[in-house]
Amino acid sequence: MREFGYQRVSDVAGALAVLGADPDARFLGGGTNLVDLMKTGVERPARLVDVRELPLDGIESTKDGGLRIGATVTNSELAAHPEVRRRYPALTQAVLAGASGQLRNMATVGGNLLQRTRCGYFADVTKPCNKRAPGSGCPAIAGEHRNHAILGASDHCVAVHPSDMGVALTAFDAVVSYETTTGPGELPLADFYLPVGDTPHLETALPSGALITGVTLPPAPVAALSRYRKVRERASYAFAIGSVAAALDVRDGVVRDVRLALGAVASRPWRARAAERVLAGAPADGETFAAAADAELAAAEPLPHNGYKVTLMRNLVVAVLTELAEEATR
Ligand SMILES: Cc1cc2nc3c(=O)[nH]c(=O)nc-3n(C[C@H](O)[C@H](O)[C@H](O)COP(=O)(O)OP(=O)(O)OC[C@H]3O[C@@H](n4cnc5c(N)ncnc54)[C@H](O)[C@@H]3O)c2cc1C
Ligand code: SF4
Repeated sequence: MREFGYQRVSDVAGALAVLGADPDARFLGGGTNLVDLMKTGVERPARLVDVRELPLDGIESTKDGGLRIGATVTNSELAAHPEVRRRYPALTQAVLAGASGQLRNMATVGGNLLQRTRCGYFADVTKPCNKRAPGSGCPAIAGEHRNHAILGASDHCVAVHPSDMGVALTAFDAVVSYETTTGPGELPLADFYLPVGDTPHLETALPSGALITGVTLPPAPVAALSRYRKVRERASYAFAIGSVAAALDVRDGVVRDVRLALGAVASRPWRARAAERVLAGAPADGETFAAAADAELAAAEPLPHNGYKVTLMRNLVVAVLTELAEEATR
């Protein structure tokens, strides 16, 4: 690892000033992703600006009945919070499905959203990779891509976003707040991650040097009956090969409200809008659930070795919606 500076900051303006003065500085949350990438040479910051002492560690109800989650809240604190568990249970389940207890104690909400892909070529600086070294190529397309994208990818990159938390936040229309030296801003999570296109190295719409200050969940009564289901190659300590965050409101056998997002299928947590359109107002039965999954996956473009994900995701969507519908009528 190269030498680097380390600095603690205790107020937001101070944090932004340090980053503004040094383009090679980076914010440090729990360090569970950034420090790993520094060890392998993927990231080479000159200075780390530790944001964990900033006053961004609260979880509060908003006036309209939503939740505001500070950027430095740890994954463990988020998962355990009583209002998260009660109002957005799929978010608790998603966070607990990720990493390990020790990692969740360190990892922050801001860092989780900005964690980088787990594509093996990205992590290996001896290999080409358009995301790490723009224009160098994408060896995953003709190489190892069993866990790569089936939706929204491009000829330039087929990596998936690894966050579990982000999938639940996407289902519940979360909005990311940030601060810059020129003022604050907000980005709905739906617009936070950029489409891959021919610029896979540009991952988010955050302005350069912006500090994520928090995430707001709008009120969503439907989220009280929600679930996160993750499929992975080991029962713990493994990233998803496919996941679903879903919430369902069923009355008189009809879907009154629904939220659906998919994980590990695209470069960003994938809001399943086409499926939601099929579900809204339709009978809450297996036929509708399968039609909804098919509508979403009609756009899938699997590679030679990840076609299994289309079947996996179809089954996962149908299973989770079926469970929620059964629970709704209990
Ligand atoms: C073995 C292992 C297994 C894992 N398994 C999973 C899993 O199954 N599911 C899952 O979702 N995740 C998993 N993770 C990833 C883990 O959740 C992330 O590493 C973690 O959430 C990142 O949070 P952090 O605070 O440590 O981020 P850091 O590593 O500190 O930072 C990550 C990035 O975010 C930036 N950053 C941090 N905070 C801010 C801020 N407030 N504003 C702007 N930029 C900021 C940093 O500059 C950096 O670029 C795993 C990690 C490991 C090591
Ligand atoms: S899929 Fe993306 S991250 Fe992986 S090698 Fe290709 S360009 Fe790099």
